[in-house]
Amino acid sequence: MGGGAIGAACARELARAGRSVLVIDRGRGTGEAWTAAGGMLAPQIEAHTEDPLFDLGLAGRNRYTELAPSLQETTGIDIGLWQEGIAQVAQTEDSVELLKSKVAWQRQQGHLCDWLAADEVATRWPWMGPTHGALWAPEEGALNPVPLVEALLADAQAAGARVVHDTATRLERRGDRIIGVVGKEIYHSDAVVIAAGAWSGKLDGLPRPISVEPVRGQMAAVPWPQMIEPFIMYSADGYIIAREGEALLGSTMENAGFEAEVTSAGLASIFSAATSLCPGLAKQEVRRTWAGLRPVTPDGLPIVGREPSVEGLWLATGHGRNGILLAAITGLLIAEMMSGDSTTIEDLDALKALDPARFWRW
Ligand SMILES: Cc1cc2nc3c(=O)[nH]c(=O)nc-3n(C[C@H](O)[C@H](O)[C@H](O)COP(=O)(O)OP(=O)(O)OC[C@H]3O[C@@H](n4cnc5c(N)ncnc54)[C@H](O)[C@@H]3O)c2cc1C
Repeated sequence: MGGGAIGAACARELARAGRSVLVIDRGRGTGEAWTAAGGMLAPQIEAHTEDPLFDLGLAGRNRYTELAPSLQETTGIDIGLWQEGIAQVAQTEDSVELLKSKVAWQRQQGHLCDWLAADEVATRWPWMGPTHGALWAPEEGALNPVPLVEALLADAQAAGARVVHDTATRLERRGDRIIGVVGKEIYHSDAVVIAAGAWSGKLDGLPRPISVEPVRGQMAAVPWPQMIEPFIMYSADGYIIAREGEALLGSTMENAGFEAEVTSAGLASIFSAATSLCPGLAKQEVRRTWAGLRPVTPDGLPIVGREPSVEGLWLATGHGRNGILLAAITGLLIAEMMSGDSTTIEDLDALKALDPARFWRW
């Protein structure tokens, strides 16, 4: 249920594993996250020290190195994989120590990550606004989420999956077993995977609540300024992503319920963050604005695995800010878990961190 980034990735892996797969998706234009996302693959930038899912994020990022050419070959769709590095800029004195300790922590574990002093930043990117230095993660990157989801679904269909446009409203249950999903009709199945993003908890018939709430993100696009090399830059307040001749500017993190609208306050905050990073953007016309709803859990980590209170129910949701990064690896994990195989993640703590039962013990 749900054919966004996570549902499409699960469908592809399950169909390729020989299962009979039906994807139920209600279609675009309802605030779904995948059509709004920036598509950064930035586990190093997003990680905090002691982050239980740092390694999963790295594995998620690295998986696209193989997946992008493979999807291009099988579907003809280019997912726009870009692997030229991301800088996280210190715009205040206070953030310098934090970012330097992040650099040190990542280097201690053998990951490529450097601290660039303010004069190095100014030499490398002379068009940037004032900085106090930057963390440089040369293996970070991005992809284009819309062709990613289209390619995953196309590849799933090539492996036998079917896609129907319908809105699922209820789980169908017999005793302690889930036997399907109800939309315009009843879709019977041995197993249901709920991958409906921020809407995952809205189905009737759930055995217990799913702790996912929408967190709105607003975005804008302006033409990429001439004479500036493409880049991706983060600050504490926002980011700039170069994509197909545009600068994508993001993003807010707002608890606004299920309202996927842009607001003048939200746009003001992302333009302010972007123009302080790259003042040259201030002269660019605004081409598009949009917003989407991230599926966010109380601890900020995804929910991936079997719902233990009934048979036949699986959850793949709550990926928050990193659902594009984690889509491909989540699809693989779900397929492995459903077939009872040992999983790509061997680290028990990381698997526990994803446990669907962790918020509700009844
Ligand atoms: C502004 C913004 C920027 C982001 N930037 C990044 C980024 O740079 N990097 C990154 O990794 N992540 C990013 N994300 C997060 C990422 O987009 C999400 O984590 C990811 O898309 C979640 O995938 P999903 O499939 O769970 O949910 P979604 O992408 O929201 O997809 C859910 C799907 O389920 C469908 N659906 C919902 N309810 C029903 C129903 N009842 N019946 C049928 N279908 C249903 C929806 O229509 C949708 O297609 C960003 C998100 C936003 C909003």
